[in-house]
Amino acid sequence: TQVLQARMAQHAGLGAFLATNPDTALAEARAADAAIATGTAGPLTGIPLAHKDIFVTDFARSGLATTAGSQMLKGYASPFDATVVARLVAAGTVTLGKLNCDEFAMGSANENSAYGPARNPWDPTRVPGGSSGGSATAVAARLVPAATGTDTGGSIRQPASFTGITGIKPTYGVCSRYGMVAFASSLDQAGPMARSAEDCALLLSAMSGFDERDATSAERPPQDFHAQMLQPRAGASAAKPLQGLRIGLPKEFFPAALAADVNGAVRSALAELEKLGATLVDVSLPRTELSIPVYYLIAPAEASSNLSRFDGVKFGHRAAQHGDLLDMYKKTRAEGFGPEVKRRIMIGTYVLSHGYYDAYYLQAQKLRRMIADDFQACFQHCDVIAGPVAPTVAWALGQQREPLQDYLADIFTLPGSLAGLPGMSVPAGFGEGGLPVGLQLIGNYFQEGQLLHTAHALQ
Ligand code: GLN
Repeated sequence: TQVLQARMAQHAGLGAFLATNPDTALAEARAADAAIATGTAGPLTGIPLAHKDIFVTDFARSGLATTAGSQMLKGYASPFDATVVARLVAAGTVTLGKLNCDEFAMGSANENSAYGPARNPWDPTRVPGGSSGGSATAVAARLVPAATGTDTGGSIRQPASFTGITGIKPTYGVCSRYGMVAFASSLDQAGPMARSAEDCALLLSAMSGFDERDATSAERPPQDFHAQMLQPRAGASAAKPLQGLRIGLPKEFFPAALAADVNGAVRSALAELEKLGATLVDVSLPRTELSIPVYYLIAPAEASSNLSRFDGVKFGHRAAQHGDLLDMYKKTRAEGFGPEVKRRIMIGTYVLSHGYYDAYYLQAQKLRRMIADDFQACFQHCDVIAGPVAPTVAWALGQQREPLQDYLADIFTLPGSLAGLPGMSVPAGFGEGGLPVGLQLIGNYFQEGQLLHTAHALQ
């Protein structure tokens, strides 16, 4: 714990951490030592990690504030732990702190954080991806062996890809959303980000499971994802562990515009999977492009509703100078929210407003269903879907990109999110500038074990 804390201080310039608490971390580490000494330790006892600052952490217990990357929640002291946090604490992990992220998890580069960007350890002039950018940076820079992240439209997979680590977004409902600051509730899902599929499997087993405090939590028995990951396939051998696995390549995931370096790295990872016994089959997800407008209507619609709670009364910031109640709301929200959050609230309230609801929101919901059906058609022909995570490697920090440029870069992660399917990013190789490229694997509902098994074989 102390060695990692020294390393965190040495690499503070990467902007990974928003809060640390050396005293509580040390106390947790000592408790872990005691558990090991008395033989009550589990696989995660004493494992240091850190949480994306979108998970609330009980301030009285941890001394860690929760900001969601926003001025609105600056210094916010939560009275309770998110379920994911509570479960990882119960598993004996040592919490080193809270990790930088885009404000309310809105972004693809961690440049929308109110507390400054996080930097990509492979090249600190580049972004680490987002919105779980601090998590990706912390793991890639070896400040922590593992971190939590959340993925609404790609925020675990894309930063994992940009920083050369492994991340999994499970099926919607596998991890509880209780205590996760809400962005788009029908899409938000927590997951682990770590150095390998094996580490992700151990973390996911501890984080996941039914929670009566989340109405959309999947009512399933606890899962041992590590055992599922190790489970040999029927008919497989040591040389061909993936014998019989059909991997579907949606043609829309390999457009002519895909960067050559990304295509090259992804193809080489696919060739490795073939050597391990998998067969590649062509499939189609014809509404891949439509997933961008669909997501960027649905996610802002839900965000505009979720973020209405930040009104200067119940949580966080309140404008110091104000007139009547309406003026207090206006000034509080004008001061507390950053530009991307305001943009999304405006889009969201517009598409939900009377007169536009049918034209935008309802159409988007119908298309969302069709996108989910397209996946089921693919899974008639394959077990796992594979492709790139993002169309390019990590881009340069501080470029003042148009918001639309960032939205378009989410094209390969959004379809799986809209369908609620599990997805992973696994390191595939390196592209331009020696920057990491991730391979995306998407499975059918609750097939996390198969995804982890496939990724583990590759690693
Ligand atoms: N980049 C997407 C967005 O900005 C996804 C973010 C996320 O998954 N939290 O909404």
